[in-house]
Amino acid sequence: MKHARCTDSDLRELEDIVGVDNLSTGESALRLASRDESYYTPKIPPDVVLMPASTQEVSAILRVANARRIPVTARGAGTSIEGNPVPVYGGIVVDMQRFTEVFEVRAADFVVVVEPGVGYKDLNKLLGRDGLFFPPDPGAGAMIGGMIANNASGVRTIRYGATKDYVLELTVVLASGEVIETGSLAGKSSSGYDLIRLFVGSEGTLGIFTQATVRLAGLPEHFSAAVAAFPTVEAAAQAVFEIMRWGFSPAALELITADLAAMLNRDRELGLPEEPTLLMEFHGASQIALEEELGPVEQVCRDAGSISFERGLGLDERNRLWEARHEAYESIKRTHVGADPFVADVAVPISRYPEIVAFTEQTICEHGVAGYPFGHAGDGNLHVVFMGDAQDEEGWGRIRAANQAIVERALDLRGTATGEHGVGIGKRRFMDREHGKSLQVMRQVKDALDPKGILNPGKIFP
Ligand SMILES: Cc1cc2nc3c(=O)[nH]c(=O)nc-3n(C[C@H](O)[C@H](O)[C@H](O)COP(=O)(O)OP(=O)(O)OC[C@H]3O[C@@H](n4cnc5c(N)ncnc54)[C@H](O)[C@@H]3O)c2cc1C
Repeated sequence: MKHARCTDSDLRELEDIVGVDNLSTGESALRLASRDESYYTPKIPPDVVLMPASTQEVSAILRVANARRIPVTARGAGTSIEGNPVPVYGGIVVDMQRFTEVFEVRAADFVVVVEPGVGYKDLNKLLGRDGLFFPPDPGAGAMIGGMIANNASGVRTIRYGATKDYVLELTVVLASGEVIETGSLAGKSSSGYDLIRLFVGSEGTLGIFTQATVRLAGLPEHFSAAVAAFPTVEAAAQAVFEIMRWGFSPAALELITADLAAMLNRDRELGLPEEPTLLMEFHGASQIALEEELGPVEQVCRDAGSISFERGLGLDERNRLWEARHEAYESIKRTHVGADPFVADVAVPISRYPEIVAFTEQTICEHGVAGYPFGHAGDGNLHVVFMGDAQDEEGWGRIRAANQAIVERALDLRGTATGEHGVGIGKRRFMDREHGKSLQVMRQVKDALDPKGILNPGKIFP
């Protein structure tokens, strides 16, 4: 589909909508708006970055863009990893950073009404005063809108679910500029097609969110963290399967390799065993209930061959552990100064987790690449941070080939090409294989809601 560029008269019209201070065509603003955390770059650089501050302004922008077929890419914090907010075909970047209002905390209903530019970390600081939190936790400095658009999740998904489980209401500006409000505050509903679930994970290709009501959870009163080390990654992965099979409900269950444990020790002096390790957290109504859960979990780990099991970490140690885990990506980057990261993200049924982990280790070896596997093991979600030189065709080609092999194997195991990072640009080529004829239905939905294909073109579809 042919897209248009912004003309001078389009720019004047857009300036009238957002005001001169909220429009930028400067080179550095355009460059910043062209990147996320991946190495993907636009085929055509964007023409303009707009920073609207209301639903009406976003609607007016889309009316102009739709009339002229100008591409529009919404942007949150730009922390995506698959090129999701990279404006491939130029046009307008709608930067949501001025949508920072928290309208209403309805503590009694466990909900909050927010604008999409609110950072989830800031939101959680505010909610903590009421003993509440918004559980999806991708670690990076993501905004609520970007999390909804990517269906983000993170370390606590195993117990609390992903972003899709938390969105109750959405205000969406469609490609035509029309504004819809969908959803309700009810905890459940059987009322018609579930449009919320359609928009969650749509990566800015079906509409731009300008307001959301999201569910909250109560901050746990009691928690306990534990660290278990294993002789092999496969033994650790087997323990993950056993923990889940026995019906325990950890609030986090993360796998790190020996290399990564060593890196975190170096950066944070954590004193972790430098072996394949499981980091766990449990939440409970009382300390006694937690102790009762941890004893059998230790036994399950021992039966799976654990070398050590440290439990009952205090609040400070627990916080240090999770901060370090969130920093794993930065630690890897620091170890390979000047190299480019490429992040793989697959998820498989939990019973196949040991298999995908073993396959991944073997694939890294066979392709002769620097790759660090770790993951939200309890969800069957495995990441690999590969490090290489994106300009070195041969070396980067081996990284891409290793990633492809891991994705193909995850699909063989009836898993998915992306557990949480979304399709963006990087995962488009696996969509046919993963979805078959369903991909055609997705295209029909896209065509119905965005017939001119202006919203974040070049994403999701191969
Ligand atoms: C170190 C690191 C660790 C990470 N760990 C995790 C993790 O554990 N789990 C996880 O899920 N992700 C993780 N991510 C990926 C990323 O943080 C998430 O996908 C996050 O949700 C992106 O949010 P953002 O605000 O940065 O959105 P952006 O990257 O700016 O945009 C994401 C997508 O949303 C669209 N979009 C943005 N705002 C809107 C809007 N208002 N309306 C419609 N569409 C919109 C964009 O067009 C784009 O397609 C990690 C990233 C990094 C760098």
